[in-house]
Amino acid sequence: MSAGHLDAAVNADKSTGRITELIDQLEDRRSLTREEWTELIRGRNKQAAEYLFERARETRIRHYGHDVYIRGLIEFTNYCRNDCLYCGIRKSNPNAERYRLTPDEILACCEHGYELGFRTFVLQGGEDGWFTDSRLADIVSSIHSRWQDCAVTLSVGERSRESYRILKEAGADRFLLRHETYDHEHYSRLHPPSLSAQERQRCLWDLKDLGYQVGTGFMVGSPFQTPENLADDMLFLEKLDPQMVGIGPFIPHHDTPFADQPAGTLELTLFLLGLIRLLLPKVLLPATTALGTIAPDGRERGILAGANVVMPNLSPAQVREKYLLYDNKLCTGSEAAESLKDLESRMQAIGYRIAVCRGDSLNM
Ligand code: SF4
Repeated sequence: MSAGHLDAAVNADKSTGRITELIDQLEDRRSLTREEWTELIRGRNKQAAEYLFERARETRIRHYGHDVYIRGLIEFTNYCRNDCLYCGIRKSNPNAERYRLTPDEILACCEHGYELGFRTFVLQGGEDGWFTDSRLADIVSSIHSRWQDCAVTLSVGERSRESYRILKEAGADRFLLRHETYDHEHYSRLHPPSLSAQERQRCLWDLKDLGYQVGTGFMVGSPFQTPENLADDMLFLEKLDPQMVGIGPFIPHHDTPFADQPAGTLELTLFLLGLIRLLLPKVLLPATTALGTIAPDGRERGILAGANVVMPNLSPAQVREKYLLYDNKLCTGSEAAESLKDLESRMQAIGYRIAVCRGDSLNM
């Protein structure tokens, strides 16, 4: 090794040392300053990531053992009144083939899912005005009364506090609403002027206040994102203390203004999963579809970085390809609910097992 190489190796060791020190601090204090988060995210490297994943796995196993919770995802409408710049089903995409499941079709998905072993149904959709409070509440209460041992999760975007209250009363247990990015300026570069970070966060606080188990999250590697933005996201997670955090890499969609933007990376997404597991040890952390889309073993690597949930697709096969939020989104293979066996063997291969239960968050 030349002298120059030696210096580089010593410096690399020093910086890994500092990063692992920050990881230890995070594990002990479950809190870092904005500067420390930024330094940790900016200074990460392969060795530090391996150290982090080991800590994250240990934490996850302490609370959840080797169980992987499954959720049956029902994408029930791809109509949306919004125009988020990154989204393939934004209202101004004329090429999106629109569909809306009927209440009976939604219930049929649940029935099928129940037989397969799902005990949580996630109703996800664009912000579709057809689903008024009363229509959605009827669907929720039908599911709730028919499958009493199941949890109902909604992921239907921004609504009024009153609307959230009505849906909760109808039997919804959980609500997923990614905050996308905490920083107001960054938020405004990803969304149309009609949407704001402030309103998004208002929804999350209302949901929490109303007693929902709340899931939030953000895209990793979204356009214009900086390590400081991610530091702010981590500070927001600490403050909100949600029951679930969904993160996935940004993946461009060809019919959006961000078509030519580079995708977020598997590497950074995994690193952030590990950090979130240490920040909120008992949180539910999905290895998302987007993670499985950017790498064939993305989901497994997500689990090995501290994740403990997967959400296979329960939507009717003929509409799955129409819910294209980003290019090449997975909806077949082990991403499809019917292929639970395949998913099961993939999880077994890395030492984990699928659990048939509601899978409530321990972060209550
Ligand atoms: S991200 Fe959600 S709210 Fe925004 S356009 Fe897509 S479906 Fe609609």
